[in-house]
Amino acid sequence: MSRRRFKTESKRLLNIMINSIYTHREIFLREIVSNASDAIDKLNYKALTDPASGIVPAELGIRIAVDDEARTITVSDNGIGMTRDEMDKNLGVIAHSGSLGFKEQLDDDADSGIIGRFGVGFYSAFMVSDRVTVVSRAFGSDEAHAWESDGKETYSLKPSVRETVGTDVIMHIREDVEDDDFSRFLDRYEIEDLIKKYSDYIRWPIRMEVETGRYVETGETGEDGEPEKEYVTSSEDKVLNSMVPVWKKGKAEVTDAECAEFYKTRFHDFEDPVAVIRADAEGAISYKAMLFIPGRAPYDFYTRDFRPGLQLYSNGVMIMERCEDLLPFFFRFVRGVVDSPDFSLNISREVLQHDRQLRSVGANLTKKVKAELERLMKDDRETYERFYRGFGRQLEYGVVEEYGRHKDMLEGLLLFRSAATGKMVSFADHVAAMPEGQDRIYYVSAETYESAKTLPQTEPLTERGYDFLCLTEDVHEFVMNTIREYGGKELCNITTDDLGLESEDEKKEADARTEEFRELLDFVKETLGDRVGAVRLSRKLRSHAVLLTSEGQISIEMEKYFMNAPGAEEREIKADRVLELNADHPAVAALAQAFADDRERAGKLSRILYDQAVIVAGLPLEDAVGYSDRVLGLF
Ligand code: ADP
Repeated sequence: MSRRRFKTESKRLLNIMINSIYTHREIFLREIVSNASDAIDKLNYKALTDPASGIVPAELGIRIAVDDEARTITVSDNGIGMTRDEMDKNLGVIAHSGSLGFKEQLDDDADSGIIGRFGVGFYSAFMVSDRVTVVSRAFGSDEAHAWESDGKETYSLKPSVRETVGTDVIMHIREDVEDDDFSRFLDRYEIEDLIKKYSDYIRWPIRMEVETGRYVETGETGEDGEPEKEYVTSSEDKVLNSMVPVWKKGKAEVTDAECAEFYKTRFHDFEDPVAVIRADAEGAISYKAMLFIPGRAPYDFYTRDFRPGLQLYSNGVMIMERCEDLLPFFFRFVRGVVDSPDFSLNISREVLQHDRQLRSVGANLTKKVKAELERLMKDDRETYERFYRGFGRQLEYGVVEEYGRHKDMLEGLLLFRSAATGKMVSFADHVAAMPEGQDRIYYVSAETYESAKTLPQTEPLTERGYDFLCLTEDVHEFVMNTIREYGGKELCNITTDDLGLESEDEKKEADARTEEFRELLDFVKETLGDRVGAVRLSRKLRSHAVLLTSEGQISIEMEKYFMNAPGAEEREIKADRVLELNADHPAVAALAQAFADDRERAGKLSRILYDQAVIVAGLPLEDAVGYSDRVLGLF
């Protein structure tokens, strides 16, 4: 026998689960039953693909036994079972991958969200049990093992006995405490209710021995001349679930609540999905599908550990647990089931990728997901925004990926923050609210919404009553560069591009002013050397003196992004900096004066103005001490 320690993160998760979740304790049963059903699916699949396996599908099922004296609930299945190693690996560790993600979640909300997002399935047994024993014998093995734990520090694994292949999960139900009645789970009616509520669609029969009573004739005749009857109770096996998968039921037969319940059980979420999408297609390939859009991103969604994919069924038999090829990568948050009698049981990933019929199923489902997101955006903006907070980044990456191949599909689903209102707006909302005559969509990126909104170069827009989009995520600028134009309106980066707002006359006047300042501009450029590519008179600045912009493909925001990315030194991705001076500002007037009177002073002022622009742009100063000395030298 061996005694082993849980990994640290498992221990912490256990504590939280056991101690902080009271209201949702009852879900333990659906989790354990769902594992049993998965295990049977796996064995059934073997039966179907290997006729020599000797497995009889009709005999597969789940059994629940309640012993109120011993205070145990046992869920047994004759599924695929686990080897010793599998028990060690599968039951000994939770949150297999993400100790980091786990910690972040903890700070967020130490309460109810956690179970769902960790998909801690099996461990939920400890919410009601002070000890759990799992006895299992794997298919193809004649040994059985017993795993046991109190869910605290350690678990044990030792050889055991089991007549047949399968698994028993024996939950030793906790004693009642002041305001926690655990004994109710030992009530057969309660178990029956829970199965109906959470596990009705499970495809395998869930049997339980129940007491039934009925009147039987005794053979005697009573005083009234009628045959005499006696009430007899007996125990009999009852199948508790209806076994019809939700997605196979007609739309009218399933309530939203049932769909949501199915989703939570099957995909281990704690929250209802924000949308349920159903498809029922007849044709070259017939299929039924039920897809779900989750409300929140799982903790590992943006890591490599997240495993996307839809479950594929053929006539109610699960043939692939995660098919990643039906929906495009950018919709990888979608969960669900696709069931078709036309899917082959031995379908492989290679086949899937090249199968034309399957590709058309995928294309249809993709369209439906998009339409559903559009509907949500239109009809229930609040929910859509919540969805977007979790998955918006995925859609944004989707625009940029594959050289913008999917931008037309996705651009309408994006949300950005409006400078004017602070609200999240789509391109369509933004364009609809534009004043007449505005022919560009303006955007600016910065660390935060507040700093984006108040950047000096946005003044000419605010002056005209033009709104602009504030970008705060690294990926946003790449998104804009990919989309380039929406609804016939060019996208214009306020920091780098010409705003296109000047009239011909204004342009001429500005050109003339530049000529007037030519010598000064050349002097500043010379003083700054390679620090900047050019020095110009600004056409954007109003109340501010200086501004750092860029020329070419790489903006200052992108430079910052690459500066912080790993391996930045080798890459040396730098914006081509341009220093803009506001000729109407007193500081620039003072510079011009110094240029006429005292070149050394003019040189110092040039450096100070440049450093000011660097600071405003949010870039690091090249030489903070030198900068400070120069400024203090003015006193
Ligand atoms: P999940 O079901 O999300 O993978 P669980 O913690 O519920 O997570 O279960 C962990 C793993 O333990 C399962 O993936 C499965 O491999 C194994 N397992 C749990 N219950 C059973 C069972 N009744 N029969 C066979 N394997 C099981």
